[in-house]
Amino acid sequence: MRKFLLFVLSAVTLFALEYHVANPNPVNGKSTLITFPKEAGLVYKDVALGKKRFQIFQAPLQRDRYYVIIPFSYYDKATKKRLKIHYSKENKAKIQILFIKLQNGKYAKESIKVSSSKVNPRSKAVKHRISKEYKEAMRIYNTVTPKSYLSRPFILPMHSTITSAFGKARIYNGSLKGYHSGTDFRAKVGTPIIAANDGRVILVKDRFYSGGTVILDHGEGIYTCYFHMSQFQVKKGELVKRGEILGLSGKSGRVTGPHLHFAARVDGVQVDPLQLIELLNNNLLKEKH
Ligand SMILES: [Zn+2]
Repeated sequence: MRKFLLFVLSAVTLFALEYHVANPNPVNGKSTLITFPKEAGLVYKDVALGKKRFQIFQAPLQRDRYYVIIPFSYYDKATKKRLKIHYSKENKAKIQILFIKLQNGKYAKESIKVSSSKVNPRSKAVKHRISKEYKEAMRIYNTVTPKSYLSRPFILPMHSTITSAFGKARIYNGSLKGYHSGTDFRAKVGTPIIAANDGRVILVKDRFYSGGTVILDHGEGIYTCYFHMSQFQVKKGELVKRGEILGLSGKSGRVTGPHLHFAARVDGVQVDPLQLIELLNNNLLKEKH
């Protein structure tokens, strides 16, 4: 009897999947990174959060590690999140449950006055343009390029004062119109804007809200965006290196004055770009010495 019990116990002593959670107490609008060690017989697949699935990739610099970024939307409620890690062990599909407690970012609010034609666009043509530009952008952001262009840490798109941080609730001419979806850098018209990391130029366009826009695909679902530019120096489809000039800053689109709006997306989810950069630089893209 005793032997039998021991046998049962060892059989139900479940295999514990090894992983490390960087930023285990995230707030809405920020990202969490989970890494996994390479292990014989283990194949990592993805992490499910609600209806979304985030693919697990081999780490770009350490081939013996795997990673997944979990981006939390600004509108995600501060609750306990149930993450399902899908993997297989000796060709058998397995699931490991992981709970992450999402906190409330307690973002500040700011009131902004802009020309009313940019707040409540009335003309059919303008509405059509906005909708077309939105759909095009979402198609891009929801595309996960199955390779990484990253081989070193991210840098900032310019060295300048930050005039508005990510996440401030925005009240345009008295009515709430969402939140600040990126980080604003002070930049007089004509200041060079550089690529935050290696990637492919996936969009170069003058858009209604974001004005002169460049979007870079860094691969594996990571995108950075550069808004309100006055001049482009790259073309769609081109590969760029970190630090390469994308163009010049400006005041195009829905703005109160010249600046650079810098944003980031992971698997379609808009996240705090500076927190994403810090998270990746400190945990995934550390420069070798
Ligand atoms: Zn901005």
